[in-house]
Amino acid sequence: MTSATQVSNGAVPQYAQVAVPVHLNKTFTYRLPAAMQRAARVGSRVMIQFGAKPTTGYIVALSAQLREGTSLIESEIKDVQELLDVEPPLTPEILEITRWVSDYYATPWGEVMRAALPAGINATVEQTVSITPAGREQMTSPPTAETHESLPPASAGMSVPPAVAGGSARTRALRLLANEGEFELGAFRLRMGATQTPKWLRDLEHEGLIERSYRTRLLPTRAKRRRAVRLVKSPSTGYAGVPPASLPPNERLGQRREAAKQAGRPRAQRLTEAQRRAIEALRANGNAMAAHDLVQTASISESVIRTLLRKGMVEQFEEETRRDPLARAELPVNENFKLTTAQLAALKAIEAPLNQRRFAPILLHGITGSGKTEVYIRAMRAALDLDRGAMMLVPEIALTPILSRRLRSHFGDQIAIFHSSLSKGERFDEWSRLRRAEARVVLGTRSAVFAPVKDLGVIIIDEEQDASYRQEESPFYHARDTAIVRAQREPAVVVLGSATPSLESFHNSQTGKYGYLHLPERVANRPLAQAVMIDMRQVFARRKKPAVFSAELLSAIQETHLRREQSIILLNRRGYSSFILCRSCGESIECPNCDVTLTYHQSDRTLVCHYCNHHERAPSQCPACGSKYIYYVGEGTEQIEELLRKRFPNLRLGRIDRDTKSRRYEFEKTLLDFGKGEIDLLVGTQMLAKGHDFHNVTLVGVVSVDAGLALPDFRAAERTFQLITQVAGRAGRGNLPGRVLIQTYHPHHYALRHACAQDYRAFYDEEIRHRRNLGFPPFVALALLLVRHRDPARALGIAQQLRKALNEANRDQSCRILGPAPAPFARLRGEHRVQLLVKSRSRKQMRAVIDQALKNCAEAGNDSRSVTLEIDPVSMM
Ligand code: ADP
Ligand code: ZN
Ligand code: ZN
Repeated sequence: MTSATQVSNGAVPQYAQVAVPVHLNKTFTYRLPAAMQRAARVGSRVMIQFGAKPTTGYIVALSAQLREGTSLIESEIKDVQELLDVEPPLTPEILEITRWVSDYYATPWGEVMRAALPAGINATVEQTVSITPAGREQMTSPPTAETHESLPPASAGMSVPPAVAGGSARTRALRLLANEGEFELGAFRLRMGATQTPKWLRDLEHEGLIERSYRTRLLPTRAKRRRAVRLVKSPSTGYAGVPPASLPPNERLGQRREAAKQAGRPRAQRLTEAQRRAIEALRANGNAMAAHDLVQTASISESVIRTLLRKGMVEQFEEETRRDPLARAELPVNENFKLTTAQLAALKAIEAPLNQRRFAPILLHGITGSGKTEVYIRAMRAALDLDRGAMMLVPEIALTPILSRRLRSHFGDQIAIFHSSLSKGERFDEWSRLRRAEARVVLGTRSAVFAPVKDLGVIIIDEEQDASYRQEESPFYHARDTAIVRAQREPAVVVLGSATPSLESFHNSQTGKYGYLHLPERVANRPLAQAVMIDMRQVFARRKKPAVFSAELLSAIQETHLRREQSIILLNRRGYSSFILCRSCGESIECPNCDVTLTYHQSDRTLVCHYCNHHERAPSQCPACGSKYIYYVGEGTEQIEELLRKRFPNLRLGRIDRDTKSRRYEFEKTLLDFGKGEIDLLVGTQMLAKGHDFHNVTLVGVVSVDAGLALPDFRAAERTFQLITQVAGRAGRGNLPGRVLIQTYHPHHYALRHACAQDYRAFYDEEIRHRRNLGFPPFVALALLLVRHRDPARALGIAQQLRKALNEANRDQSCRILGPAPAPFARLRGEHRVQLLVKSRSRKQMRAVIDQALKNCAEAGNDSRSVTLEIDPVSMM
């Protein structure tokens, strides 16, 4: 890679090679206008005309000449329109790792770079619609029959807001534009009640009656300023109240008069109680405070500040401030443990390659509660002590409220926190602090692997087996595997931590590809929770009807509560939440766009599709037969919560799931309240199973584990094993012994048996045999080709073409090709899905075969946009 400065021979660059975040895996040449030539840098963003649209692109190379042998014609090369950065936001390290991701996962480089930058930094392109003179003319001319007949509103898929009602969509659109002027496209569609750009709009454009234009809108996320006030000191008394010389003369005059009026009276008398509180709060805070904080701290109203300003006792100023996601957080006390022998040995093994600036991938296999987090913290501290940076990735936002406070208390302002539920401003600020090396440690979820940490010394991947490290949409990438490659290039030490390592990582540690560190015991000899299976077949036999809760689990909840300890109740449904079924005709209500049943949400009585977000009201009678006997099948977290509430009216309940997750503060608050013991029982999905360290939890109940085992995915057993082991690790983390109850109809399944015994090795040995016999990772490289099309015949046709092309490319039989077959979700969001699997012992061969086949298909005129290639797919669903 060229350095982030000028072209190698020192000549002034004339051309920029630009990667664009579109679905094309190549870069494009643009000419640099003279004004930009000296300022352009590799890693900077530019605005370019791409096709018909202005788009943000990223400069990946600069050159003085066109490449030799290029087929580009000088006069056809377009100019760069704007240079968006003087300082390139993409460092050479980030350019390099995003390049690797693009090559390895066959995903567009521009998309990876966009994912690597904080959302707030990207410029957006705005489309506007306006009426043309020809359009105006048509408005004033008497309406012809033709304009009125064109496309009635219903066929254009619109509901018409009253403001523009009357006439055809075309007429209304013209009238709206003529009366109110230019519109932003989205706003215009909204006013017209259209969800997509309707055909009549394109028609109007073709006929020259309206025009669309594109405008760059830079949304420069900037440093935030806030209003603050400080005490004005009187030179004579040192007491607030006398205006300083720096105030504007007229104000000073006014205040002097004021002061004269007040003269002779003791100053304190002039102050109301609230004013005095304000002054005191300011004094206690170094004489200055943000206005907002002052109002809070002194519990005064804004008007008190205004009065003090008028009296000249305080003055106002603008303070640059950082949007700090933890600004108001209470931080835990920093305990400085003496490391256990095992922790110390692990730390030493991490420090050795760190000190030597060596690349070292290490699996840290430590059972839950063995003190891995403490090892991570010390390893990161060691990197900082060497004046190097550190990165810690965690799988879920759910893990960050408590962990981020713990890390903040260790690293203070040196740590930047980076996760998807931050506001754009917070993200931008945290990212900027890293980019400027003001922060040297980053804690974040998946995309933080691209954080611009300076001189990265150590990367920690906590819960390395977690599927959420995989991005399941373009750009596809796996953050763990990306981190390993990044560590190799830096070079840095990368620590993969887990109580239940992925089969792949444990296998790598067995073959010597990774180092292996083991923490086999819990800190302070705390015992592992005792896990027991409850055979729901017997529960059914006893009760003669299906039950959500076994008597064992119910009495365990009661006992736990009586001991003033806490419980977690977990549901493992993975999208199999409650749905509606008609008892008369057996009809269940499915999503109109997807082959899945709709999930019932009690709180607002709606049915929701968790794939396409289709919402509808829950019916009171069966839409198929009209019967009133519809009922709810399966238990969602909401229903479990309700059942428990009825059963245990004096327990304080909380719930955490996908639906609460979207409401960040509520979600964080629930977790923090549970940590403080203000909630007795927490109900949730698998996101509750991970990483939390709640000392007073002594009971974990898994209500239904079987749905997860039954998934058509070769990792179903591994996932279930991990889930149970993880969740069992949530119990008994303090000084109290824990207990885990797992309700299942399959008590003999090996994943459940080994999970109950908490025997990772036994599970691994059994599972790895299956993988070897069936030819699945880690013994083969795997790729998934998914074909999506609205027309089922087209989907299958494209897949069959692809299969033929793969067969041809695979003459030497280096790959095994499976399919085409319907994907597990055969229809989603209105698209039919057909898939092909390619397996090979040689990753290189596999890629060669797939690349060749895709190329041949594209050349044969097949629609390549309907094909998605996933290298190393994680979820087979
Ligand atoms: P893990 O990440 O492996 O699940 P943690 O690092 O969260 O484990 O440690 C489990 C508990 O033990 C935590 O409450 C932690 O504060 C405590 N702990 C960790 N290391 C030590 C130590 N050396 N001495 C005492 N307590 C420790
Ligand atoms: Zn019915
Ligand atoms: Zn749907």
